[in-house]
Amino acid sequence: MGKTGFLERLQNGGSIVVAEGYIFELERRGYLQAGSFVPEVVLEHPHLVRQLYEEFVHAGSDVVLALTYYAHREKLRVVGRENDLDAMNRAALKMAREVADENDCLMAGNICNSAVFIHSDENTFLPTENIFKEQIEIAVELEADFIVGETFSCFAEAALALKCIQKYGQGLPSVITLSASAGDVLLDGYDTVDACKKLEEAGATVVGLNCGRGPRTMLPLLEKIKQVCSIPIAALPVVYTTSSEEPHFFSLTIPDTKERAFPLDLCSRMCSRKEIEEFGTKANELGIQYVGLCCGNSSNMLRIVAEKYGRTPPASKYSPDMEKHYIYGDKTKFRKEFTEDLMAVKGGKF
Ligand SMILES: [Zn+2]
Repeated sequence: MGKTGFLERLQNGGSIVVAEGYIFELERRGYLQAGSFVPEVVLEHPHLVRQLYEEFVHAGSDVVLALTYYAHREKLRVVGRENDLDAMNRAALKMAREVADENDCLMAGNICNSAVFIHSDENTFLPTENIFKEQIEIAVELEADFIVGETFSCFAEAALALKCIQKYGQGLPSVITLSASAGDVLLDGYDTVDACKKLEEAGATVVGLNCGRGPRTMLPLLEKIKQVCSIPIAALPVVYTTSSEEPHFFSLTIPDTKERAFPLDLCSRMCSRKEIEEFGTKANELGIQYVGLCCGNSSNMLRIVAEKYGRTPPASKYSPDMEKHYIYGDKTKFRKEFTEDLMAVKGGKF
């Protein structure tokens, strides 16, 4: 693909599959702390980050998104590691570039919600710009192919991120994604669909939604965005079952207790593979060109999206084939004792 692959692929109406969700996946594996969600793992266990980059590419990601999400000054301040900002960003980007080059993939730098920006307080704008600037400049230096600005709950912060990519990004393309709230209005009062249109008008290469909503509550909003925007649209939902009653992963509850599931018990609301299949199919039909999964992503789920977009990644070698299962599969392939008879004799009802 090479460095121009990003625009070329999109100009031809093609698609780009992108794995996100590193933070939650590494927390699940026991190498990242829930709460701050700072990717200290980049410095403490770099081989695991490289491995996850490789794993997601194996599962169908066309992009190695550098794990610099929340590796910004404000988040590092919270965990007392501001002095590690440069090293952490460089390490994440360097490994991402290497894995991308080894696999003919693209590599993206990543900036995100600053945890500083307050739309009603202009005094927060410059500190936010500085947060974006220092991460963008390192991403440019480490040869990112494009920059992702993601998970913005305010239009104004997303617009500032885009402006910073244009100002400090040496002409690199931009993907700007908003994190839609439970309603259709962003935290600073902008309608989410209108905000996407404004970001298009401001020069974003790709615009859309990531995080926050699961497939079922993100898709209706994507349909509206698709109607008003003419640039490629991005869609990277969380892998949790949201609904009209609980439209956002902050509003999900644990089935037994009805306590809030976010963030520690979101595992109780994971999407089924079927739901991700539906998402991949519908997103493709809708013409979503930049597609992936955010929090809750895992390789077996991303592979489904990639396959629904017509890909056959290396991991497709291991895509499910339940015909080979000794009880639920092709019964002619197994001894009867292990199929109907076993279930009948034991009174088993599976
Ligand atoms: Zn997310």
